[in-house]
Amino acid sequence: MTGKPMRSTTTGGDDLVVGADDLVLGLDVGGTTIKAEISDAAGTVLAANAVATPRGEAAFDAMIELGDKLLATLPDAARTRVRRAAVLLPGVVDSARGIAVFSANVGWRDVEVGTRFTDRWGMPVLIEHDVAAAGWAEWRFGGGRDRDTVCVIIIGTGISGTLSVAGRFVRGAIGQAGEYGHIPVRRTHGIPCPCGNIGCVETVASAAAIARAYARRTGSECSSAADVFAMIATDPDAQAVVADAVDALADGLVGVVHAVCPEAIVLGGGLAGAGEILAERLHDALTDRLRVIPGPQVVIGEYGARAGLVGAARFARHGSLT
Ligand SMILES: [Zn+2]
Repeated sequence: MTGKPMRSTTTGGDDLVVGADDLVLGLDVGGTTIKAEISDAAGTVLAANAVATPRGEAAFDAMIELGDKLLATLPDAARTRVRRAAVLLPGVVDSARGIAVFSANVGWRDVEVGTRFTDRWGMPVLIEHDVAAAGWAEWRFGGGRDRDTVCVIIIGTGISGTLSVAGRFVRGAIGQAGEYGHIPVRRTHGIPCPCGNIGCVETVASAAAIARAYARRTGSECSSAADVFAMIATDPDAQAVVADAVDALADGLVGVVHAVCPEAIVLGGGLAGAGEILAERLHDALTDRLRVIPGPQVVIGEYGARAGLVGAARFARHGSLT
């Protein structure tokens, strides 16, 4: 291969224009569930389904079967209108070469995606990193739209995101930029992170970390971060846990904020359901830490936990993350 830039496709799918009447198939592969939808240009979902994610490369067979099943539910006239698909994969993804490089959660390494989807579904199929497509969709069409310099932070089981600067979606040296969750903020007495470091942002501020911290502090089971946020008005333990999470997020983001001076930080993913409380507090915590640049707006993403599926559909339609 030469040094020529390559597109995010396994099949050269950009030569096919997805028209206003065409449909797209989007898959979002997570550590526990593979979700798929067929949608039209307005974003209306015509068919949807999900299956549990098998471990290892078998997950790819499950993706193909799920796509098959969904396509089979459409009447023939609609089936022929499905013109392109996008499959979002977790972990490290080399979208230019079509390789699922590594996923700790699903347990694969160096899987060549090749033409397996295209051969089966008979249409161009793009692959991309899940957070890259989700964050790109929030920036271009969701909570960050009409702004040029934006950090999208996707908060779920972990924390990751994207960065757009001066209207350009930033891809780093390994294909993605925005591993905000693994910025260490509690090096001393911090919680070990699955990545091997100590005290990463996501050990304190992810949805899973917030639920765990509450359970640890109170000895009472707490099923989700949303429950913790729901108790915030009346429960001092919930208040302390949320304050700690906001502090860790602000400490982690303050360097990025100085580096690129974003207009806005968009909070996406499941925890974005915590809403305005989280946005206001993060804005205040960042503003407290800034002296020479203004505090960015902090806004809630529009797609929540659906950011991956929306990203897949938008990416399939758009053809690239630009
Ligand atoms: Zn980490």
